Amino acid sequence: MKYASVFRAALDQVHAEGRYRVFADLKRHRGEFPRATWTREDGTSSEVVVWCSNDYLGQGQNPVVLDAMHRVIEDTGAGSGGTRNISGTTHDHVELERELADLHGKESALLFTSGYVSNQASLSTLYKILPGLIVFSDALNHNSMISGIRAGGRDQRQVFSHNDLGHLEELLAAVDPEAPKLIAFESVYSMDGDIADIAGTVALAKKYGALTYLDEVHAVGMYGPRGAGVAERDGVMDQIDIVEGTLGKAFGVMGGYIAADAAIVDAIRSFADGFIFTTSIPPALAAGAVASIRYLKDHNEVRIAHQARAAALKARLLKAGLPVMPSASHIVPVLVGDAAHCKLISDILLNEHGIYVQPVNYPTVPRGMERLRFTPSPAHSDAMMDGLAAALKELWTRCSIAQVGSVAA
Ligand code: PLP
Repeated sequence: MKYASVFRAALDQVHAEGRYRVFADLKRHRGEFPRATWTREDGTSSEVVVWCSNDYLGQGQNPVVLDAMHRVIEDTGAGSGGTRNISGTTHDHVELERELADLHGKESALLFTSGYVSNQASLSTLYKILPGLIVFSDALNHNSMISGIRAGGRDQRQVFSHNDLGHLEELLAAVDPEAPKLIAFESVYSMDGDIADIAGTVALAKKYGALTYLDEVHAVGMYGPRGAGVAERDGVMDQIDIVEGTLGKAFGVMGGYIAADAAIVDAIRSFADGFIFTTSIPPALAAGAVASIRYLKDHNEVRIAHQARAAALKARLLKAGLPVMPSASHIVPVLVGDAAHCKLISDILLNEHGIYVQPVNYPTVPRGMERLRFTPSPAHSDAMMDGLAAALKELWTRCSIAQVGSVAA
Protein backbone atom coordinates (compact mmCIF):
# COMPACT_ATOMS: atom_id res chain seq x y z
CA MET A 1 0.00 0.00 0.00
CA LYS A 2 1.19 3.51 -0.80
CA TYR A 3 0.54 5.07 2.60
CA ALA A 4 1.73 8.56 1.66
CA SER A 5 -0.84 8.91 -1.13
CA VAL A 6 -3.66 7.85 1.19
CA PHE A 7 -2.68 10.52 3.71
CA ARG A 8 -2.37 13.08 0.92
CA ALA A 9 -5.80 12.19 -0.47
CA ALA A 10 -7.35 12.67 2.97
CA LEU A 11 -5.76 16.11 3.19
CA ASP A 12 -6.76 16.99 -0.38
CA GLN A 13 -10.37 16.37 0.52
CA VAL A 14 -10.20 18.75 3.50
CA HIS A 15 -8.51 21.36 1.29
CA ALA A 16 -11.14 20.94 -1.45
CA GLU A 17 -13.91 21.59 1.09
CA GLY A 18 -12.12 24.77 2.21
CA ARG A 19 -11.84 23.54 5.79
CA TYR A 20 -8.13 22.76 6.08
CA ARG A 21 -7.09 24.07 9.49
CA VAL A 22 -4.15 26.45 9.76
CA PHE A 23 -2.85 27.31 13.21
CA ALA A 24 -1.86 30.91 13.89
CA ASP A 25 1.53 31.27 15.61
CA LEU A 26 0.68 33.69 18.43
CA LYS A 27 2.82 35.06 21.21
CA ARG A 28 0.95 36.76 23.99
CA HIS A 29 2.47 39.44 26.18
CA ARG A 30 1.98 39.28 29.90
CA GLY A 31 -0.56 41.85 31.04
CA GLU A 32 -1.60 42.87 27.52
CA PHE A 33 -4.48 40.48 26.94
CA PRO A 34 -6.15 40.31 24.38
CA ARG A 35 -3.22 41.58 22.29
CA ALA A 36 -0.64 39.20 20.81
CA THR A 37 2.14 39.05 18.22
CA TRP A 38 1.36 36.91 15.19
CA THR A 39 4.33 35.35 13.33
CA ARG A 40 3.77 34.40 9.69
CA GLU A 41 5.38 31.40 7.99
CA ASP A 42 7.98 33.69 6.37
CA GLY A 43 9.11 34.85 9.81
CA THR A 44 7.60 38.35 9.65
CA SER A 45 5.29 39.36 12.45
CA SER A 46 2.65 41.91 13.43
CA GLU A 47 0.38 42.81 16.33
CA VAL A 48 -3.15 41.39 16.50
CA VAL A 49 -6.18 41.48 18.79
CA VAL A 50 -7.38 38.00 19.72
CA TRP A 51 -11.17 37.66 19.43
CA CYS A 52 -11.65 33.92 19.89
CA SER A 53 -9.90 32.96 23.11
CA ASN A 54 -11.71 30.74 25.59
CA ASP A 55 -9.69 32.40 28.34
CA TYR A 56 -12.97 34.28 28.58
CA LEU A 57 -12.09 36.54 31.49
CA GLY A 58 -8.36 36.96 30.90
CA GLN A 59 -7.57 34.95 34.04
CA GLY A 60 -4.53 33.48 32.26
CA GLN A 61 -2.98 36.93 32.77
CA ASN A 62 -4.24 37.65 36.28
CA PRO A 63 -1.20 38.36 38.53
CA VAL A 64 -2.92 36.48 41.36
CA VAL A 65 -2.92 33.33 39.23
CA LEU A 66 0.61 33.83 37.89
CA ASP A 67 2.03 34.51 41.36
CA ALA A 68 0.49 31.29 42.72
CA MET A 69 2.00 29.31 39.84
CA HIS A 70 5.45 30.91 40.23
CA ARG A 71 5.41 30.26 43.96
CA VAL A 72 4.66 26.56 43.55
CA ILE A 73 7.29 26.10 40.83
CA GLU A 74 9.83 27.72 43.15
CA ASP A 75 8.68 25.68 46.15
CA THR A 76 8.05 22.27 44.62
CA GLY A 77 9.38 22.03 41.06
CA ALA A 78 7.81 21.40 37.65
CA GLY A 79 5.91 18.18 36.97
CA SER A 80 3.83 16.06 39.34
CA GLY A 81 6.04 13.01 38.83
CA GLY A 82 3.38 10.40 38.27
CA THR A 83 -0.19 9.23 38.19
CA ARG A 84 -2.34 10.09 41.17
CA ASN A 85 -1.72 6.57 42.52
CA ILE A 86 2.04 6.75 42.14
CA SER A 87 3.33 9.92 43.80
CA GLY A 88 1.27 12.27 41.60
CA THR A 89 -1.08 13.39 44.38
CA THR A 90 0.48 16.55 45.73
CA HIS A 91 -0.85 18.94 48.32
CA ASP A 92 -1.90 21.29 45.48
CA HIS A 93 -4.05 18.59 43.85
CA VAL A 94 -5.77 17.85 47.16
CA GLU A 95 -6.39 21.54 47.79
CA LEU A 96 -7.80 22.04 44.29
CA GLU A 97 -10.26 19.17 44.63
CA ARG A 98 -11.48 20.66 47.93
CA GLU A 99 -11.86 24.05 46.27
CA LEU A 100 -13.86 22.56 43.39
CA ALA A 101 -16.16 20.60 45.70
CA ASP A 102 -16.81 23.80 47.62
CA LEU A 103 -17.41 25.78 44.41
CA HIS A 104 -20.16 23.40 43.31
CA GLY A 105 -21.56 22.66 46.78
CA LYS A 106 -20.73 18.95 46.43
CA GLU A 107 -19.13 16.46 48.81
CA SER A 108 -16.24 15.69 46.53
CA ALA A 109 -14.42 16.48 43.29
CA LEU A 110 -11.99 14.66 41.02
CA LEU A 111 -9.34 16.20 38.78
CA PHE A 112 -8.50 15.07 35.26
CA THR A 113 -5.87 16.29 32.82
CA SER A 114 -8.45 18.17 30.71
CA GLY A 115 -12.16 18.77 30.36
CA TYR A 116 -12.12 16.41 27.40
CA VAL A 117 -10.65 13.60 29.46
CA SER A 118 -13.01 14.23 32.36
CA ASN A 119 -16.05 13.75 30.10
CA GLN A 120 -14.59 10.83 28.18
CA ALA A 121 -13.40 8.98 31.28
CA SER A 122 -16.38 9.71 33.55
CA LEU A 123 -19.15 8.88 31.09
CA SER A 124 -17.53 5.67 29.84
CA THR A 125 -16.92 4.59 33.44
CA LEU A 126 -20.53 5.20 34.51
CA TYR A 127 -21.54 2.38 32.14
CA LYS A 128 -19.12 0.07 33.97
CA ILE A 129 -20.50 1.00 37.38
CA LEU A 130 -24.17 0.93 36.38
CA PRO A 131 -24.78 -2.19 34.23
CA GLY A 132 -27.58 -1.64 31.70
CA LEU A 133 -27.22 2.16 31.96
CA ILE A 134 -29.03 4.15 29.27
CA VAL A 135 -27.58 7.61 28.62
CA PHE A 136 -29.89 10.30 27.17
CA SER A 137 -27.61 12.69 25.35
CA ASP A 138 -28.42 16.13 23.88
CA ALA A 139 -27.87 16.12 20.10
CA LEU A 140 -25.38 18.99 20.33
CA ASN A 141 -23.28 17.59 23.15
CA HIS A 142 -19.54 18.09 22.80
CA ASN A 143 -17.38 15.45 21.15
CA SER A 144 -15.82 14.53 24.51
CA MET A 145 -19.20 13.49 25.90
CA ILE A 146 -20.14 11.60 22.74
CA SER A 147 -16.79 9.82 22.83
CA GLY A 148 -17.31 8.75 26.46
CA ILE A 149 -20.86 7.60 25.78
CA ARG A 150 -19.81 5.67 22.67
CA ALA A 151 -16.88 4.04 24.44
CA GLY A 152 -19.02 2.95 27.37
CA GLY A 153 -22.48 2.34 26.04
CA ARG A 154 -22.33 1.31 22.40
CA ASP A 155 -26.07 0.81 21.74
CA GLN A 156 -27.32 2.00 25.11
CA ARG A 157 -27.62 5.64 24.26
CA GLN A 158 -30.54 7.77 23.17
CA VAL A 159 -30.03 11.13 21.50
CA PHE A 160 -32.67 13.79 22.12
CA SER A 161 -33.15 16.86 19.91
CA HIS A 162 -31.13 19.80 21.13
CA ASN A 163 -32.67 21.46 24.19
CA ASP A 164 -35.98 19.73 23.41
CA LEU A 165 -37.48 18.58 26.71
CA GLY A 166 -40.58 17.21 24.94
CA HIS A 167 -38.41 14.83 22.94
CA LEU A 168 -36.34 13.95 25.99
CA GLU A 169 -39.50 13.01 27.90
CA GLU A 170 -40.75 10.87 24.99
CA LEU A 171 -37.49 8.91 25.06
CA LEU A 172 -37.43 8.60 28.85
CA ALA A 173 -41.01 7.33 28.91
CA ALA A 174 -40.29 4.68 26.26
CA VAL A 175 -37.56 2.74 28.08
CA ASP A 176 -37.74 0.17 30.88
CA PRO A 177 -38.70 2.16 34.00
CA GLU A 178 -36.35 -0.02 36.07
CA ALA A 179 -33.26 0.60 33.88
CA PRO A 180 -30.59 2.94 35.27
CA LYS A 181 -30.71 6.21 33.36
CA LEU A 182 -28.55 9.30 33.02
CA ILE A 183 -29.27 12.58 31.21
CA ALA A 184 -26.07 14.13 29.82
CA PHE A 185 -26.24 17.76 28.70
CA GLU A 186 -24.40 21.08 28.70
CA SER A 187 -25.37 24.40 30.24
CA VAL A 188 -23.89 26.81 27.65
CA TYR A 189 -23.55 25.35 24.15
CA SER A 190 -20.39 26.95 22.96
CA MET A 191 -20.94 27.21 19.20
CA ASP A 192 -24.46 28.71 19.30
CA GLY A 193 -24.23 30.33 22.72
CA ASP A 194 -27.65 29.05 23.80
CA ILE A 195 -28.39 27.81 27.32
CA ALA A 196 -30.17 24.65 28.49
CA ASP A 197 -33.29 24.60 30.65
CA ILE A 198 -31.55 23.01 33.61
CA ALA A 199 -34.54 23.18 35.99
CA GLY A 200 -36.79 21.56 33.36
CA THR A 201 -34.24 18.80 32.73
CA VAL A 202 -33.86 18.14 36.46
CA ALA A 203 -37.64 17.88 36.83
CA LEU A 204 -37.76 15.22 34.09
CA ALA A 205 -34.83 13.37 35.67
CA LYS A 206 -36.74 13.21 38.97
CA LYS A 207 -39.95 12.10 37.28
CA TYR A 208 -38.23 9.22 35.47
CA GLY A 209 -35.62 8.28 38.08
CA ALA A 210 -32.59 9.42 36.05
CA LEU A 211 -29.26 10.84 37.19
CA THR A 212 -28.13 14.17 35.69
CA TYR A 213 -24.66 14.88 34.24
CA LEU A 214 -24.11 18.57 33.40
CA ASP A 215 -21.13 19.90 31.43
CA GLU A 216 -20.54 23.49 32.62
CA VAL A 217 -17.29 23.90 30.69
CA HIS A 218 -18.41 27.17 29.04
CA ALA A 219 -20.03 28.51 32.19
CA VAL A 220 -17.74 27.89 35.16
CA GLY A 221 -16.15 31.09 36.39
CA MET A 222 -18.68 33.13 34.39
CA TYR A 223 -22.20 32.45 35.74
CA GLY A 224 -23.66 32.34 39.23
CA PRO A 225 -22.78 34.59 42.17
CA ARG A 226 -19.56 32.64 42.89
CA GLY A 227 -18.85 31.47 39.34
CA ALA A 228 -20.04 27.87 39.73
CA GLY A 229 -21.99 28.05 36.48
CA VAL A 230 -25.52 28.33 35.13
CA ALA A 231 -26.89 25.75 37.60
CA GLU A 232 -25.77 28.05 40.40
CA ARG A 233 -27.28 31.09 38.64
CA ASP A 234 -30.58 29.22 38.22
CA GLY A 235 -30.64 28.00 41.84
CA VAL A 236 -30.57 24.29 40.90
CA MET A 237 -26.95 23.40 41.57
CA ASP A 238 -27.86 21.03 44.42
CA GLN A 239 -30.13 19.05 42.10
CA ILE A 240 -27.44 18.14 39.58
CA ASP A 241 -25.89 14.76 40.36
CA ILE A 242 -22.60 15.17 38.50
CA VAL A 243 -21.22 18.49 37.32
CA GLU A 244 -18.25 18.56 34.94
CA GLY A 245 -16.02 21.53 34.22
CA THR A 246 -12.70 22.74 32.89
CA LEU A 247 -9.87 24.78 34.36
CA GLY A 248 -8.70 25.69 30.85
CA LYS A 249 -11.24 28.31 29.83
CA ALA A 250 -12.55 31.00 32.21
CA PHE A 251 -10.18 29.84 34.97
CA GLY A 252 -7.30 30.49 32.59
CA VAL A 253 -5.09 27.43 33.21
CA MET A 254 -5.65 23.77 32.26
CA GLY A 255 -7.29 20.59 33.53
CA GLY A 256 -10.78 19.18 33.96
CA TYR A 257 -12.92 17.81 36.77
CA ILE A 258 -16.17 16.39 38.01
CA ALA A 259 -17.90 17.21 41.31
CA ALA A 260 -20.60 15.05 42.91
CA ASP A 261 -21.53 12.99 45.99
CA ALA A 262 -18.51 11.32 47.58
CA ALA A 263 -19.59 7.80 46.57
CA ILE A 264 -19.99 8.75 42.89
CA VAL A 265 -16.61 10.50 42.79
CA ASP A 266 -14.89 7.67 44.65
CA ALA A 267 -16.32 5.07 42.27
CA ILE A 268 -15.19 7.00 39.18
CA ARG A 269 -11.78 7.54 40.83
CA SER A 270 -11.54 3.78 41.32
CA PHE A 271 -12.65 2.63 37.86
CA ALA A 272 -11.86 5.35 35.28
CA ASP A 273 -8.94 4.38 33.06
CA GLY A 274 -8.56 8.00 31.88
CA PHE A 275 -7.99 9.02 35.48
CA ILE A 276 -5.92 6.08 36.75
CA PHE A 277 -3.41 5.59 33.95
CA THR A 278 -2.07 9.08 33.27
CA THR A 279 0.26 11.55 34.94
CA SER A 280 -1.56 14.18 36.98
CA ILE A 281 -1.38 17.89 36.10
CA PRO A 282 1.68 19.80 37.36
CA PRO A 283 1.24 21.16 40.91
CA ALA A 284 1.76 24.72 39.65
CA LEU A 285 -1.27 24.35 37.37
CA ALA A 286 -3.32 23.11 40.30
CA ALA A 287 -2.18 26.06 42.42
CA GLY A 288 -2.98 28.50 39.59
CA ALA A 289 -6.45 27.00 39.32
CA VAL A 290 -7.05 27.32 43.07
CA ALA A 291 -6.01 30.98 42.95
CA SER A 292 -8.21 31.62 39.91
CA ILE A 293 -11.30 29.92 41.36
CA ARG A 294 -10.90 31.77 44.67
CA TYR A 295 -10.44 35.08 42.87
CA LEU A 296 -13.55 34.59 40.74
CA LYS A 297 -15.62 33.44 43.72
CA ASP A 298 -14.98 36.87 45.26
CA HIS A 299 -15.12 39.07 42.14
CA ASN A 300 -18.62 39.02 40.74
CA GLU A 301 -17.89 42.37 39.09
CA VAL A 302 -15.74 40.51 36.52
CA ARG A 303 -18.78 38.48 35.50
CA ILE A 304 -20.93 41.60 35.29
CA ALA A 305 -18.33 43.35 33.11
CA HIS A 306 -18.04 40.25 30.90
CA GLN A 307 -21.78 40.10 30.20
CA ALA A 308 -21.85 43.84 29.52
CA ARG A 309 -19.02 43.52 27.00
CA ALA A 310 -20.77 40.64 25.21
CA ALA A 311 -23.99 42.68 25.02
CA ALA A 312 -22.05 45.68 23.70
CA LEU A 313 -20.46 43.61 20.91
CA LYS A 314 -23.76 41.99 19.91
CA ALA A 315 -25.37 45.45 19.71
CA ARG A 316 -22.56 46.86 17.57
CA LEU A 317 -22.53 43.96 15.12
CA LEU A 318 -26.32 43.97 14.77
CA LYS A 319 -26.26 47.72 14.17
CA ALA A 320 -23.72 47.11 11.41
CA GLY A 321 -26.26 44.76 9.76
CA LEU A 322 -24.25 41.60 10.38
CA PRO A 323 -25.96 38.21 10.79
CA VAL A 324 -25.36 37.74 14.50
CA MET A 325 -26.88 34.41 15.54
CA PRO A 326 -29.23 34.43 18.54
CA SER A 327 -27.17 33.80 21.68
CA ALA A 328 -28.29 33.89 25.28
CA SER A 329 -24.72 33.89 26.57
CA HIS A 330 -21.35 35.61 26.34
CA ILE A 331 -20.63 33.92 22.98
CA VAL A 332 -21.18 36.00 19.84
CA PRO A 333 -21.49 33.83 16.70
CA VAL A 334 -21.78 35.44 13.27
CA LEU A 335 -23.14 33.19 10.53
CA VAL A 336 -21.22 32.85 7.26
CA GLY A 337 -22.73 29.62 5.95
CA ASP A 338 -19.87 28.52 3.73
CA ALA A 339 -16.50 26.99 4.67
CA ALA A 340 -14.41 28.73 2.01
CA HIS A 341 -15.95 32.14 2.71
CA CYS A 342 -15.49 31.66 6.41
CA LYS A 343 -11.80 30.90 5.98
CA LEU A 344 -11.38 33.78 3.53
CA ILE A 345 -12.95 36.31 5.90
CA SER A 346 -10.84 35.04 8.78
CA ASP A 347 -7.66 35.32 6.65
CA ILE A 348 -8.45 38.88 5.53
CA LEU A 349 -9.29 39.96 9.08
CA LEU A 350 -5.93 38.67 10.25
CA ASN A 351 -3.82 39.92 7.33
CA GLU A 352 -5.39 43.32 6.76
CA HIS A 353 -6.97 44.30 10.07
CA GLY A 354 -4.89 42.60 12.78
CA ILE A 355 -8.03 40.79 13.99
CA TYR A 356 -7.65 37.14 14.89
CA VAL A 357 -10.76 34.96 14.84
CA GLN A 358 -10.67 31.31 13.78
CA PRO A 359 -13.21 30.12 11.19
CA VAL A 360 -15.52 27.51 12.70
CA ASN A 361 -16.23 24.88 10.08
CA TYR A 362 -17.52 21.29 9.81
CA PRO A 363 -17.33 19.00 11.81
CA THR A 364 -17.39 21.48 14.71
CA VAL A 365 -20.65 22.86 13.26
CA PRO A 366 -22.92 21.37 10.54
CA ARG A 367 -22.11 22.16 6.91
CA GLY A 368 -23.90 25.35 5.85
CA MET A 369 -23.66 26.72 9.40
CA GLU A 370 -20.01 27.81 9.23
CA ARG A 371 -19.42 30.88 11.35
CA LEU A 372 -17.06 33.24 13.07
CA ARG A 373 -17.31 32.90 16.83
CA PHE A 374 -16.33 35.96 18.86
CA THR A 375 -15.62 35.79 22.58
CA PRO A 376 -15.34 39.33 23.93
CA SER A 377 -13.74 39.57 27.35
CA PRO A 378 -13.80 42.36 29.95
CA ALA A 379 -10.49 43.52 28.38
CA HIS A 380 -11.91 44.11 24.87
CA SER A 381 -12.33 47.89 24.66
CA ASP A 382 -14.94 49.97 22.83
CA ALA A 383 -12.27 50.97 20.30
CA MET A 384 -11.46 47.31 19.59
CA MET A 385 -15.17 46.59 19.11
CA ASP A 386 -15.60 49.55 16.78
CA GLY A 387 -12.62 48.36 14.73
CA LEU A 388 -14.04 44.85 14.52
CA ALA A 389 -17.52 46.02 13.49
CA ALA A 390 -16.11 48.31 10.79
CA ALA A 391 -13.81 45.60 9.39
CA LEU A 392 -16.60 43.02 9.29
CA LYS A 393 -19.03 45.41 7.64
CA GLU A 394 -16.52 46.21 4.93
CA LEU A 395 -15.73 42.53 4.38
CA TRP A 396 -19.34 41.44 4.22
CA THR A 397 -19.75 43.83 1.33
CA ARG A 398 -16.47 42.90 -0.33
CA CYS A 399 -17.05 39.14 -0.10
CA SER A 400 -20.65 39.67 -1.27
CA ILE A 401 -22.11 37.32 1.27
CA ALA A 402 -25.88 37.68 1.55
CA GLN A 403 -26.75 39.52 4.74
CA VAL A 404 -28.88 36.98 6.53
CA GLY A 405 -30.85 39.58 8.47
CA SER A 406 -33.53 37.10 9.48
CA VAL A 407 -31.00 35.16 11.52
CA ALA A 408 -30.25 38.15 13.68
CA ALA A 409 -31.71 38.20 17.18
N1 PLP B 1 -16.89 20.18 27.03
C1 PLP B 1 -17.21 21.15 26.16
C2 PLP B 1 -18.63 21.52 26.01
C3 PLP B 1 -16.23 21.79 25.40
O1 PLP B 1 -16.55 22.74 24.52
C4 PLP B 1 -14.87 21.42 25.59
C5 PLP B 1 -13.77 22.08 24.83
O2 PLP B 1 -13.90 23.01 24.11
C6 PLP B 1 -14.58 20.41 26.50
C7 PLP B 1 -15.60 19.81 27.20
C8 PLP B 1 -13.17 19.99 26.71
O3 PLP B 1 -12.56 20.84 27.65
P1 PLP B 1 -10.98 21.04 27.64
O4 PLP B 1 -10.69 22.06 26.61
O5 PLP B 1 -10.64 21.44 29.03
O6 PLP B 1 -10.40 19.71 27.27
